[in-house]
Amino acid sequence: MNKLKLVFATNNLNKLKEVQAMLTNFEIVSLAEINFFDDIAETAETLEGNAIIKANFITEKYGLNCFADDTGLEVEVLNNEPGVYSARYAGKDNNTEENIKKLLNKLGDNSNRKAQFRTAVVLNMNGKQYIFEEICKGTILKEKQGESGFGYDPIFMPLGFNKSFAEMNMIEKGAISHRGKAIEKLVTFLNNYTW
Ligand code: IMP
Repeated sequence: MNKLKLVFATNNLNKLKEVQAMLTNFEIVSLAEINFFDDIAETAETLEGNAIIKANFITEKYGLNCFADDTGLEVEVLNNEPGVYSARYAGKDNNTEENIKKLLNKLGDNSNRKAQFRTAVVLNMNGKQYIFEEICKGTILKEKQGESGFGYDPIFMPLGFNKSFAEMNMIEKGAISHRGKAIEKLVTFLNNYTW
């Protein structure tokens, strides 16, 4: 049987692999596979807004069904910073090392290290738009642990676990993560979608 083809509007290969591992019943096509190599400016002030910009850009340009996600790390004592600015926290160029350094500096020895990742997934499907959102609660570690994953993974320990996201493999992380759970909602929706 032919798999349903959907564009995932991302240039992040880590995210693409994570999502492909979860959506094995679908043919997930990357932006590179549709010959789109630019960045789509994320100019909204909310995660939902940025995901809508990305999904709409691709659907309008190529006329394809498509989904996009946007994720932010929200740290309680920092008034939910870095939030929608997570990629550019320490400056424009999405420098993970600098972002982590800035966050750990700002947090210092604060004993409240509660944080959560929040993901919004926006699906454009046959002329309609659907939004799925999920969070993953946890704490910010005092120093980096682990080598896997990307972004803030080495300093984020999900609630109920004794290791960071960067000490988990993709499948393990996907089962409990913000994006994993939001994509699960997308999968459930697609599995019940009537054509
Ligand atoms: P994006 O706009 O959804 O790519 O996410 C914004 C930023 O949040 C990324 O550049 C990463 O720094 C961070 N981020 C997103 N998802 C994750 C994750 O699963 N683990 C760690 N950091 C993440």
